[in-house]
Amino acid sequence: MPDLAPADQSVDVLVVGAGITGIYQLYRAREAGFSVQLLEAGGGVGGTWYWNRYPGARFDSESYTYGYLFSRELFDEWVWQERFAEQPEIERYLNHVVDRFDLRRHMRFDAKVSSAVYDESSGTWTVVVDDGSEYTARFFVAATGVLSVPYFPDVPGREDFRGESYHTGLWPTTPVDFAGKRVGVIGTGSSGVQIVPVIADEVASLTVYQRSANWCTPLNNAPITTGEQAQLRADFDEICNVLNTSASGFLHQANDRAAFDDSKAERQAFYERMWNTPGFGKLISHYTDVMFDEAANAEWCAFIAAKVRSIVEDPETAEALIPKDHRFGEKRPPFVNGYYEAFNNPNVSLVDLHRTPIVRVTETGIATTEGVREHDTIVWATGFDFGTGALARMGIRGRSGLALEDYWADGPKTFLGAQTVGFPNFFFPGGPHAAAGNNPRYNGDQVDFVTETLVYARGHGYDTIEVDPAAEEEWTGMVDRNASKGSFTEASYYFGTNIPGKPRKYLLNSGGRPKLFAVIADVREHDYRAFRLSRSSDATQTTA
Ligand SMILES: Cc1cc2nc3c(=O)[nH]c(=O)nc-3n(C[C@H](O)[C@H](O)[C@H](O)COP(=O)(O)OP(=O)(O)OC[C@H]3O[C@@H](n4cnc5c(N)ncnc54)[C@H](O)[C@@H]3O)c2cc1C
Repeated sequence: MPDLAPADQSVDVLVVGAGITGIYQLYRAREAGFSVQLLEAGGGVGGTWYWNRYPGARFDSESYTYGYLFSRELFDEWVWQERFAEQPEIERYLNHVVDRFDLRRHMRFDAKVSSAVYDESSGTWTVVVDDGSEYTARFFVAATGVLSVPYFPDVPGREDFRGESYHTGLWPTTPVDFAGKRVGVIGTGSSGVQIVPVIADEVASLTVYQRSANWCTPLNNAPITTGEQAQLRADFDEICNVLNTSASGFLHQANDRAAFDDSKAERQAFYERMWNTPGFGKLISHYTDVMFDEAANAEWCAFIAAKVRSIVEDPETAEALIPKDHRFGEKRPPFVNGYYEAFNNPNVSLVDLHRTPIVRVTETGIATTEGVREHDTIVWATGFDFGTGALARMGIRGRSGLALEDYWADGPKTFLGAQTVGFPNFFFPGGPHAAAGNNPRYNGDQVDFVTETLVYARGHGYDTIEVDPAAEEEWTGMVDRNASKGSFTEASYYFGTNIPGKPRKYLLNSGGRPKLFAVIADVREHDYRAFRLSRSSDATQTTA
């Protein structure tokens, strides 16, 4: 039964999702004077960092660039232990934020939203949780994440398996014991490559089932020393300045040289430096043309391939671990710590599913075309229904009962990745078309913008906000056009192509953060004319 006083069930702003975006949205809306309630399907705070608690789950963004920047005191008092924090530390941090800013009392957990319906006569949303409890709100903000619906491939027999089975994105809160177990890990994307080296030593055997090899490079994690901690605090203003304006939301500096500006020897030395560069520096600080010039990309790939061959002792395994079907950066490049080395462990083996596809899961293991391997535990590291997954499953109904999943049947149509036509007073910061880099920075920009828009509407006596179709068309067109530019537009989850039947549409913000800034500035400058603002009691009128 609902555990809230009725007053909390009718609010100005109803936020769904207690991840880094929803927490910030709750904070900003409350600080702006709105009454707020947050609903979260999970049992606690954290979003991604609540659900993905598999061994080895950690940031690929530098910890202090991922955390919030809105409070200097918060930045000063939280001492990140590692350059790239592990899941328990991130979950602790987000809980700390919630308690420090007294946000928990506005949150309800184990509350999965199953329907959200817009009422045109009152301009409000009725939001229903799967236990039947009902909330009404003027503004409905879904901060439901783009990687929050785990995906299981349609493998026959998955339900027949009698051992333990886990999805990395739905990891239990109680510890999983791998000691002495025969484990199969299916999938070698960012999550699969994180878990493999961490459990390799304790399991009896580990079989890694790989559909596509990825261009994995070292994360280059390290503890943050006391001296670095002090420097971070001394540099707070400068860090904010860079992060609040950077194109990708990272601190990494862009390079100004193209690959073939350098001699062959210089390039090899540069690749070695890149290999040793932390995290996404390998994309951002790389040669300017590594993502655009086939030859530049191929040379960097050859360098990585040589590294793989030098680390992995078994030549056949090394070859199988080297991607043949895509270039570096075409898919989200995973960052690793001891992944390739794990295959030198005699109890770790690789099954290349291109050669020997999975036929079915049996009661006791996994059958491929080359035979059956017995397992006590199967880990599904098979990704997510990216971008639109959560929004399409919430029963969202706009004007005239329009279903969001129908309106987006051919792919999402958005303005700034945060609003869509036909769904007034509904916002989804951090949704499809929203980010393409260090997520919290983009998503934070959007939360700021959503909050400003609510404040603007309130200040001008409007209570209904709907994006103008022309603004939506322009943003969506921009995303699609930019995504098809250049040569690196092959299949990846960025296009939703990991989900059978999903339309192939780009789901990130292909214009990047500069475009987001430019359009937001334009909206402000032109008195929010990208929106149709009205009073629910009046006929629609625009501010244009
Ligand atoms: C393993 C992993 C590692 C990652 N590492 C990085 C990284 O290093 N850097 C980076 O920038 N990004 C990373 N990401 C992307 C990450 O998703 C974002 O950084 C960020 O967590 C998004 O925050 P969010 O609040 O928008 O969404 P989420 O954190 O996904 O939170 C959304 C919340 O909404 C809830 N929800 C969804 N539907 C409903 C519903 N119907 N009812 C109620 N609640 C609902 C979910 O339960 C979830 O808790 C990573 C993602 C994964 C999976």
